[in-house]
Amino acid sequence: MSQQTRFDLGQSDIPECWYNILPDFPEPLPPPLHPGTKQPIPPEALTAIFPENLVQQEVSSERWIEIPDPVRDIYALWRPTPLIRAVRLEKALDTPAHIYYKYEGVSPPGSHKPNTAVAQAYYNKVAGTKRLATETGAGQWGSSLAFACKFFGMECNVYMVRVSYQQKPYRRMLMHTWGGTVHPSPSDQTEFGRKLLAENPNNPGSLGIAISEAIEDTIKTPNTKYSLGSVLNHVCMHQTVIGLEAIKQMEMAGEEPDSIYGCVGGGSNFAGLSFPFVRKKITENKKYKIVAVEPTACPKMTKGELRYDFGDTAGLTPLLMMYTLGHNFMPPSIHAGGLRYHGMAPTMSHLKKLGLLEAVAYHQTSVFESSVLFAQTEGIVPAPESGHAIHAVVEEAKRAREEGKKRVILFNLSGHGLLDLSAYESYFSGKLQDV
Ligand SMILES: *Cc1c(COP(=O)(O)O)cnc(C)c1O
Repeated sequence: MSQQTRFDLGQSDIPECWYNILPDFPEPLPPPLHPGTKQPIPPEALTAIFPENLVQQEVSSERWIEIPDPVRDIYALWRPTPLIRAVRLEKALDTPAHIYYKYEGVSPPGSHKPNTAVAQAYYNKVAGTKRLATETGAGQWGSSLAFACKFFGMECNVYMVRVSYQQKPYRRMLMHTWGGTVHPSPSDQTEFGRKLLAENPNNPGSLGIAISEAIEDTIKTPNTKYSLGSVLNHVCMHQTVIGLEAIKQMEMAGEEPDSIYGCVGGGSNFAGLSFPFVRKKITENKKYKIVAVEPTACPKMTKGELRYDFGDTAGLTPLLMMYTLGHNFMPPSIHAGGLRYHGMAPTMSHLKKLGLLEAVAYHQTSVFESSVLFAQTEGIVPAPESGHAIHAVVEEAKRAREEGKKRVILFNLSGHGLLDLSAYESYFSGKLQDV
């Protein structure tokens, strides 16, 4: 073999703890507020929808939180995930940059999302929850939670954005295969859903609407809790196994990244890769450039405002301090369904405010162009979401070529696109439009 391009860890290298960034923030994170009183919400109030153990994690000031053995045992089905150097992409771009990617598409549901789904299912099980309610856009989160619930013998009730339910049947089938129940949202299962359907029987749905339905379901059904696939502190924390592994793997490769990229929907996969590196920025004065990549069609970090806003459309959630386009924002229908959320995780928003993270936005046609280049050089068909990170990396690698400077770039390949091939087909047939 001429050159090592794949950096693998063994099962015993699965991290023993998640990294909680809260205690390392140079300024404290603004707390969630009660929508009525506008006062900080006492953590106990959150136990109406979340189990107490996860509420504790949400507000914890402990830096390292031990990963329970049953969770690590399930992680071992696909973790540690590989770190790969994209030498063929480098060559195609004729760039002096070294490009590394952490590949989260090797999990059974095909993305990073089970890293938190399994943890959340476990903590709910321990707390006595019998049934979880959640929402899903294109189905990545719903399928990951259905997968996770099955390990712990819990029911999983998913509200799936109606257009995706109709247009993207395969993840719906995956949810069924893993034993989940799926309703097109808005649905006839909740008061909010029935009200919207009465106004417009063809309401295409949105993530914000589906969240409202899942929360209403949780409040009204005994032994049920709510589960969210991104945005919240504990969700971002569960994803830090990605970055903790990547730090070890970059050491194996004998290199240190100078820029780190990831796509952002609610922010969790990129929080997962970047937070352990942000810790080195804060505590070791490292100079990594950390870049969140979003679609121009849903530009909360590049065009949104940093303010308190609801996480859902109906206004049932606490107010979170985040970059937002407004909780009523209806993102245009783009193929990267997982990036169509109006807000950004408070932890990620806080990092941007503190100047520890920057953001860029790209149109979907250029994203698909780079995704196809990636598929044709590295072999993996990326999820349309992950394609945003790839495109930003391609742009950076081209700049490195123009400047004749070596750079070491690391990005998160958050998932594969094998269930998103219709999006590629639209791109090839020229039907894809920039909005
Ligand atoms: C859901 C999803 C995303 C976006 O969600 P984040 O919380 O921002 O990570 C990105 N990539 C893939 C493959 C997804 O499934």
